[in-house]
Amino acid sequence: MRKSVVAIVGRPNVGKSTIFNRLVGDRISIVEDIPGVTRDRIYSKAEWLNNEFNLIDTGGIESGDEPLLVQMREQAEIAIDEADVIIFLVDGKSGITAADEEVAKLLFKSNKPVVLGVNKMDNPEMRETIYEYYSLGFGEPFPVSGAHGLGLGDLLDKVVSYFPEQQEPEEDDETIYFSLIGRPNVGKSSLVNAMLNEERVIVSDIAGTTRDAVDTRFSREGQDYVITDTAGMRKRGKVYETTEKYSVLRALKAIERSDVVLILIDAETGIMEQDKKIAGIAHQEGRAIVIVVNKWDTVESNEKAMREFEEQIRVHFQFLEYAPIVFLSAKTKKRLHTLLPVINMASENHVKRIPTNLLNDVIMDALAINPTPTYKGRRLKVLYSTQVAVKPPSFVVFVNDPELMHFSYERFLENQIREAFDFTGTPIKIFVRKRQ
Ligand code: GDP
Ligand code: GDP
Repeated sequence: MRKSVVAIVGRPNVGKSTIFNRLVGDRISIVEDIPGVTRDRIYSKAEWLNNEFNLIDTGGIESGDEPLLVQMREQAEIAIDEADVIIFLVDGKSGITAADEEVAKLLFKSNKPVVLGVNKMDNPEMRETIYEYYSLGFGEPFPVSGAHGLGLGDLLDKVVSYFPEQQEPEEDDETIYFSLIGRPNVGKSSLVNAMLNEERVIVSDIAGTTRDAVDTRFSREGQDYVITDTAGMRKRGKVYETTEKYSVLRALKAIERSDVVLILIDAETGIMEQDKKIAGIAHQEGRAIVIVVNKWDTVESNEKAMREFEEQIRVHFQFLEYAPIVFLSAKTKKRLHTLLPVINMASENHVKRIPTNLLNDVIMDALAINPTPTYKGRRLKVLYSTQVAVKPPSFVVFVNDPELMHFSYERFLENQIREAFDFTGTPIKIFVRKRQ
């Protein structure tokens, strides 16, 4: 099911980031150990009245030293392209400025619903001026104060009222939904095309074409797949297209719509910081992951080169040690046939269920190999474990006191589980709970 996307637009200093942070709370800093992910405060999940949506702070997407007006235009364009509903924010202390009118003009031309927020209305007396803002042409202006958290409920009521009706997702467990993510020019579009033109691949239909992605359904050897191509839909030539933050945004969309994510790396240019950032998000979201080193035709291809590249990947992507690596060339199609089997394997492991008795046998053996840690004279007791979810496989370990579970011991248990059961290609989660 696709979550609605809401974007906050407005000239600098009206309070976009303040409102953004308020709406997403502290949910944004879930992961600390993945480089870069938490620093990008531009895109996050938010929730209002049981509506989960994704929120973008377009103010965070800056494209270098462009003049202000150009940047604002780009940010408005991104909002128009990406969002289902736009929050247009102005500053209630300074009144309407020429820059606000510029933004208004751009938004007016889009067919997207726009909700007007007038920020910095910190006290009730200020609300008397609210009527001036009708002149922007977006209907009722909502007075808010990002700093004090006022008025946001009414604003959000209006925002969610524009969300499209969500259809129940089809129960279709057999199909593998996957997508490709990576920096611009790593070869995402080329690889999608190459896969769809492979022998014995039967493209059945374009399952759905939306503004932001093309979903293509195909099958091979009896297995159904849907590949989501967000790259193919991009607005070629737009200035912001190659900016780093925009490509993160694209990656987030692709990740959201798939179970298996292929992280593409360019063999020619090697691993870059941005690759890690994008990979970190896929990991954090619990997707099955396959690392694909594309453009393998550009390097001298032998076992040694492959081993060396693999070592590099393992050093740079330590959090993805479970991810298999495929080397191929979308251009020459060399080794392309090795990809689908690996996708199948990752997908299978992503939905794998371990019977409780087998799981507990493994945990008991683990406890015997490596005694549980003690803290202040008390020893951790592991009582019982059970798998509670798939996609990704998630386990609850019941203990006498969760405080006694040390990170390294949890890590040890994860490794023991991975050794006993094949979870190649998928993250697994372990929750430690107190047994009442
Ligand atoms: P952005 O550039 O649109 O993202 O704006 P920021 O969120 O960075 O805010 C710009 C300035 O306005 C900061 O100094 C904020 O502290 C201030 N600000 C944001 N919201 C409010 C508000 O509701 N009331 C007041 N008085 N100041 C605010
Ligand atoms: P995207 O931006 O990630 O979708 O990348 P594209 O698919 O548009 O590819 C970017 C460029 O890389 C194009 O010029 C492709 O022809 C080239 N390219 C893609 N795959 C390969 C490959 O396997 N080998 C080589 N040598 N070039 C490739």
